[in-house]
Amino acid sequence: MAPATDDVIAALGALREEVERCTSCALHETRTRAVFGEGDPGADLLFVGEAPGYHEDQQGRPFVGQAGKLLEQLLASIGLTREQVFIANVLKSRPPNNRDPRPEEIDACRPYLWRQIEIIKPKVICTLGNFATKLLSGDQTGITRVHGTPRAVEIAGHPLYLYPIFHPAAALYTPAMLTTLKEDFSRLPELIARAAPTPGEEAAVPPAAERPAWRPPERLRRDAPAPGGATDGAAVPPQEADGAAAPAADSSTAAEPAAPAEATPAVPVEPAPAADSSDDPAPAAGSQPEPEQLGLF
Ligand code: URA
Repeated sequence: MAPATDDVIAALGALREEVERCTSCALHETRTRAVFGEGDPGADLLFVGEAPGYHEDQQGRPFVGQAGKLLEQLLASIGLTREQVFIANVLKSRPPNNRDPRPEEIDACRPYLWRQIEIIKPKVICTLGNFATKLLSGDQTGITRVHGTPRAVEIAGHPLYLYPIFHPAAALYTPAMLTTLKEDFSRLPELIARAAPTPGEEAAVPPAAERPAWRPPERLRRDAPAPGGATDGAAVPPQEADGAAAPAADSSTAAEPAAPAEATPAVPVEPAPAADSSDDPAPAAGSQPEPEQLGLF
C-alpha cells in the first residue's frame, strides 16, 4: 500500500468539509454530526457500511459502537487496524431511530461515496450488508446470496474488487452469521494481494456458492414449523431469503442493524437491543464491553 500523496489528502479533506456542510437531504436537520468516514486515504481496502447510528452521530466517526468493535476484531484477525483501512458509509447522516435509509437519501449521498472512491482508489471495496452491496453492485441480489463472492467491477472509473460480506451488527446476534462473516473476512488478504482487476473478470477466489451456504437460523426461516402446524419442510430458497418480501433474516439490513427481536446475541453484549447496540441510545457509562470482552476470537 503506497502512502497517500498530499493531493489525495487535500482532496479528501475538502470533500469532508463539503459533507459536513451538506444539506442535500432532510437528514441534515436531525443529525448531530455528519460522519464522513475515516482511515488511511491511501488504503487498499475500503469498507462501506450503511449509515451512522447513535454513537457515530454523536462522535462524527464511523463504526464506534458494538459493530465497530467487532469490525476491529475482524480486522485484527487479518493483521490490520482500522487506521490502515478506510471506513465509510452509504449515508453520511444518521436516519432518525436508525430506520432504513430511504431511496432519496441514498441518491443524495451517493456522489460523496463515489468521490471518496475516486480519491482513495481502493483495490477492494468490502460492502457490509445489503444497502452498501446493492448500491455498489447496482444489483438487487441480497447479501445472503452474494456474500463472500468477489466481483471485478469499475466504480467511479476505477477498477477494483467488490467483496460483499454480512454486516457486523447482524452477526452480533446470530452465531451462524458470525461464523460465516469470519470465514469471508479471512479471505480478504488474498483479494487485496491481487493485482487490480480487469472489469468483468471473474475473481479466482472461489465464490461463496462453492462453499457451504449460510442459512438463516431455524427460528427465522419461513419453513420453520409453525407453532402447532406442519410445513412442507422445503428449504427457503436463497432468493426468497433475499427478497423484499423476505423475512427478517435478510431484510434490507438484516444483515445489518435490524436484528430480529428474538435473536440471541452471538456474543455477550449488554444491553441486547433490537438492532445494532451501537446505534441505540447510549447505555449507561461503562456498560459497554471492551473488545477483548466480546470473546469473539
Ligand atoms: N453501522 C453502520 O452501517 N455504520 C456505522 O458507522 C455504524 C454502524
